[in-house]
Amino acid sequence: MTSNVGGSMICVPILGESVDRMLAQMDEAKVAGADLVEIRLDYLQSFQPHRDLELLIKRCPLPTLITYRPKWEGGRYEGDDNKRLDAFRIAMELGADYVDVEFKVGHEFINSINQRKPEKCKVIVSSHNFRDTPSFDEISSLAARIQAVGADIVKVATTALDITDVVRIFQLTVHSQVPVIGLVMKERGLISRLLCPKFGGYLTFAALEKGQLSAPGQPKIDDLLNTFNLRQLGPDTKVVGLIGKPVGHSKAPMLFNKAFKTVGIDCVYVPFLVDDVANFLKNFNSPDFVGFSCTIPHKEVALRCCDEVDPIAKSIGAVNTIIRRPSDGKLIGYNTDYFGAISAIENRLRGLQHLHDGTGSPLAGKLFIVMGAGGAGKALTYGAKEKGARVVVANREHNRARELADSVGGEAITLAELENYHPEDGMILANTTPVGMHPNVDETPIPKHALKGYELVFDAVYTPKMTKLLLEAEESGAAIVTGLDMFIIQAYEQYERFTNLPAPKELFWEIMSGY
Ligand code: NAP
Repeated sequence: MTSNVGGSMICVPILGESVDRMLAQMDEAKVAGADLVEIRLDYLQSFQPHRDLELLIKRCPLPTLITYRPKWEGGRYEGDDNKRLDAFRIAMELGADYVDVEFKVGHEFINSINQRKPEKCKVIVSSHNFRDTPSFDEISSLAARIQAVGADIVKVATTALDITDVVRIFQLTVHSQVPVIGLVMKERGLISRLLCPKFGGYLTFAALEKGQLSAPGQPKIDDLLNTFNLRQLGPDTKVVGLIGKPVGHSKAPMLFNKAFKTVGIDCVYVPFLVDDVANFLKNFNSPDFVGFSCTIPHKEVALRCCDEVDPIAKSIGAVNTIIRRPSDGKLIGYNTDYFGAISAIENRLRGLQHLHDGTGSPLAGKLFIVMGAGGAGKALTYGAKEKGARVVVANREHNRARELADSVGGEAITLAELENYHPEDGMILANTTPVGMHPNVDETPIPKHALKGYELVFDAVYTPKMTKLLLEAEESGAAIVTGLDMFIIQAYEQYERFTNLPAPKELFWEIMSGY
């Protein structure tokens, strides 16, 4: 049997509605890299215990965990509980490696098998809370009661209403003397699954494909293995990640984790779906969490949550990077967006004008229009001003445009006014609104006819790489700079601050070349 010494196991739920379908899924799970499979008997449309369990257990290419979840615990089985418990006993006799019995019937079941439990079979006793995640005291008391009925492995699954709920499950798994499966379901609980090996969880569940989930919030096995490097994680792994809402679109986990793995750094980058930044930082305050990227809509609030803020980030009024200083745990805020976006634009202009580095900024004297006045808008506005451009801020909400434009002695207009704005040729246009971002790829912040007069158009949005704005700008004859260029260059400094090592710049471009 696969052991979890040195790391948590990956268990793929098998949810076929027929034995044949299940057998096919088991083979797929093995190819995908699973350590074991959870056979969900309650998904079978017809079930003949002896015949079907024999086939499923004997033919399975991986260790088997047998689950027969009743409706009252979130499953599909609606029949008599005695029949259900009989199926577990048969599975044990036929060589199942694990059975998962619900806490409510755990005592009764374990008593019934006491003398006849095959050595190799482990009993998981599980509790699922689909409402919330109780206090740590309640969770640990529950785990103790589960252990007391004679469980070999304790399973506690709760529901995340906020990402900070996960901390209490980590506290349970990291301190437990007995093997524990601790999971927090739903989107906000995702890191309980991604960081399972770091915090000592016995196993984590992962779906074969999107949509083939046995509980809300399960990642795909391919993502666990290839995006989040699950096999490389352990108790000493440092954690960094992206604080945002939404965060699912970000390519940052893929970029950083591929780089960490290639360079051989024991660090993982995860998405943190955060509603309240201050509360998140207060709860995730251990030295294990060494740094954070910040994205929409948290960059300005994040600045106020830092103990110290770098002068450039302070001038911009937004931080996109937070580092926990190892010496005293204080949070230091930086802004790497400014450098990423402005360098990418300067590089392109230098190419157009056949200029070399060191000849001064090609932005000097240009009319530079920034759409949006949020975190990225502030970084671009500050950067353009620093480089000697004349800045115009165009924002949906005029007051915000005014405030930002005033901070750099620029002009403020509304996005609507920008449509007929053409004081001169050779202008630079930078979109820092999320308009055009996946899934709204058919949207653009400015109509195509208004793109005449621009020498260069930049879009901070990078999912997709070629936004509608950039496609129309190219058709209108402007040079373009993508948000992906900005993303890669801004990530150099983040990487250096997270790791204290030079960024592998060529590797970054190589990793992102397929996107
Ligand atoms: P933010 O702080 O929330 O600011 C968003 C700005 O966009 C605000 O000024 C807002 O206008 C405006 N806006 C939002 N929805 C709009 C709509 N439907 N129509 C018109 N204007 C709208 O966000 P952020 O952190 O600056 O990020 C903005 C975008 O840049 C995101 O797509 C993000 O992914 C991207 N980004 C990319 C990189 C990169 O490396 N490529 C780095 C940073 C950000 P109001 O003031 O009127 O609300």
